[in-house]
Amino acid sequence: MKYISTRGQAPTLTFEEAMLTGLARDGGLYVPETIPQMSKDDISAMAGLSYEEVAFRVMRPYIGDSFTDQEFKEIIAKAYSGFGHSARAPMVQLDSNHFLLELFHGPTLAFKDFAMQLIGQLFQVALKRSNERVTIVGATSGDTGSAAIEAFKGLDAVDVFILYPHGRVSEVQRRQMTTPTESNVHALAMDGHFDDCQARLKDMFNDFEFRDGVRLAGVNSINWARVLAQVVYYFTSAVSLGAPDRKISFTVPTGNFGDIFAGFIAKKMGLPIDQLIVATNQNDILHRCLSTGEYITDSVIPSISPSMDIQVSSNFERALFYAYDQDGAAISALMEDLKTTGGFTLSQGIIDRLSQDFVSGRVSESETSAQITKSLAVHAELLCPHSAIGVDVADRLRKADVPMVTLATAHPAKFPDAVEAATNIRPPLPARMSDLFERNERVTRVGNDLEALKSLVMERIAK
Ligand SMILES: *Cc1c(COP(=O)(O)O)cnc(C)c1O
Repeated sequence: MKYISTRGQAPTLTFEEAMLTGLARDGGLYVPETIPQMSKDDISAMAGLSYEEVAFRVMRPYIGDSFTDQEFKEIIAKAYSGFGHSARAPMVQLDSNHFLLELFHGPTLAFKDFAMQLIGQLFQVALKRSNERVTIVGATSGDTGSAAIEAFKGLDAVDVFILYPHGRVSEVQRRQMTTPTESNVHALAMDGHFDDCQARLKDMFNDFEFRDGVRLAGVNSINWARVLAQVVYYFTSAVSLGAPDRKISFTVPTGNFGDIFAGFIAKKMGLPIDQLIVATNQNDILHRCLSTGEYITDSVIPSISPSMDIQVSSNFERALFYAYDQDGAAISALMEDLKTTGGFTLSQGIIDRLSQDFVSGRVSESETSAQITKSLAVHAELLCPHSAIGVDVADRLRKADVPMVTLATAHPAKFPDAVEAATNIRPPLPARMSDLFERNERVTRVGNDLEALKSLVMERIAK
């Protein structure tokens, strides 16, 4: 299995290389050269299997020779052993034909753990084998960073640096990043928004001398291995509701478009998915683009669903790549427009192609709060604000006769202020992390300054 860049100009890589590289050298994102197919029988045979077994079957065709079957099975087993629920991704029913897929039973209480725990184990095995070290730098609006730190802390071959926007993450998110004691963990609180953190991260990757000098590796949601890990729960949930013999729909609280893109891949592999619904908060660039074809960046308005507060949705580039029939030159041109003018416009033909696969909806702040209140009253479910946005859009757009799975992307205890404001209930942390607020914090304040960031990384890894 080979991986190609969405901009058509970077070298073709193996799975392991694409995973260790992250962003392609032409600025593009890696995608598999062809998408492996699952037959109806392959999908039927998943019924009743463990999460880990389905994970092996869904991901194996993408791995190529990078890992042996035995290695890959052990990696999967380790990745999910720290989850607080034996089903890993259990489902509860909200209403007739509406289900909530709970993706928050991992160590940092958000769905990012599904990908990050796997990637931590994959890196560890690959780097041990080649006797190399890498420097991981990630940018986060909160959940990616905590998941990355949790996955990489204490691993011998890795230093992990996480940039988060100072003062703009929840206290639980911050503490999950600043309280680990392992010396290979570096939490950096940067002045600015998440988009600023993401921009400095991209600058570091585009500085090839620095990138090669510190052996920079990326684990942001553009990393193909992360997208791949997320494909699995579309299969487990759809099969438990009757796929492949009936169609299933999904609603996904969306920011960087990684999670919903995994659903698109599941569909392309053969899973019978009817609607794939993009749910956004007031930072609705994706909803506007899918409705009008205008992808125009604006400033970020902080919301009560901070993990979706972004204006540049990186993985959307992958969806555009397929909408443009894998034309790397066309994608390069769009991204050049985005860089120079702050936006681009899609033709009606491309909007039509995208709308065959994606539908979208936007939820305001007051509607988010109202949905948290309503879900508790009507469904007896305490939702985090991101999940509430999903449920709200799903209820507006779903078809009565097709089962709808809404992805619950974080545990309500990760965003207790918003939940308490809407319900008067302050959701407690699960027992296994109840001492989070007593642990000591360790964090470095940094400015929005590329040179200073590069020096800091080089100094720290020299020690
Ligand atoms: C990251 C995140 C999202 C958005 O997921 P994308 O893959 O970036 O679209 C939604 N909800 C929560 C809780 C998250 O952490």
